[in-house]
Amino acid sequence: MDIKTYVALRKEALRDEIHKQDKKPVLLIIQVNDDFASAKYIAGKMKDAAEVGMDARHLKLPTQTSEEFLLAEIAAFNADQFIDGIIVQLPLPKHISEDKVKAAIDPRKDVDGFNPLSQYVACTPLGIINYLKHENVLIRGKNALVVGRSNIVGKPMAALLLKEDANVTIVHSRTTKDDLDFYLRHADIIVVAVGIKHFINKQQLKNDAVLVDVGINRGEDGTVTGDIKPGLNVKLQTPVPGGVGLLTRLALLENVWTAFKERKK
Ligand code: NDP
Repeated sequence: MDIKTYVALRKEALRDEIHKQDKKPVLLIIQVNDDFASAKYIAGKMKDAAEVGMDARHLKLPTQTSEEFLLAEIAAFNADQFIDGIIVQLPLPKHISEDKVKAAIDPRKDVDGFNPLSQYVACTPLGIINYLKHENVLIRGKNALVVGRSNIVGKPMAALLLKEDANVTIVHSRTTKDDLDFYLRHADIIVVAVGIKHFINKQQLKNDAVLVDVGINRGEDGTVTGDIKPGLNVKLQTPVPGGVGLLTRLALLENVWTAFKERKK
């Protein structure tokens, strides 16, 4: 099933579940920047939440907000029993420590899953694994290659694939070209999160490989391209745009829904 249809169906199911509840799940989005891309992402998250019947609130703080004030606000929201999930939109201004802010969010409310103690899996890897399972992609015992080792995509993706019993390899900028080519040739599932337009293009791949393209590369003309050249000869290749970005947005809703159910217990 293509990703747009899958996401629409899953959102419909979520909306039905939420409509049966006497209260709406509440997501708080804190923004401390004037970033154009952030504003766009937040608008998308607000729209998604509204579509499934969640109550999403957007708190926009001035960029000169002090770290102390932000941490105190987060502590107050942690204690607020009517808030299920809290996310802080990145980037933060330079004078605020991203690590401190991530660590300040209650692990039970950290629906972005950025904090290692969070009870939730980071949204991009979660969205990807849920989709692969929905598509009946066999993961157990398969060779999974993760290109990129960031804390928000590469590492949690590798951990999830390992949890699903894949044989996992991570490659990164220090991997030699020969080794990269070797691993690509032998991989059944390849997740690419590098941030370089069409980084995977002519390399030799298995015909039945599954390619997941996380990359979002914005051209000067406003076009968005992935890390993988479209139309490669493989079993499944996720598109950009309209691929992992949608899965990531869906996973955030799934995490908020889980947080809501946990709070009700
Ligand atoms: P980071 O910049 O944090 O990490 C990039 C990773 O790619 C690093 O581990 C880096 O290696 C590796 N890398 C860089 N160059 C090479 C190379 N030549 N060969 C092999 N590996 C290389 O990026 P993110 O993980 O945050 O994001 C990656 C991409 O995914 C970006 O385009 C981003 O916009 C997109 N993204 C999309 C999301 C979505 O929802 N669709 C969500 C999050 C990100 P090293 O560690 O050695 O530097």
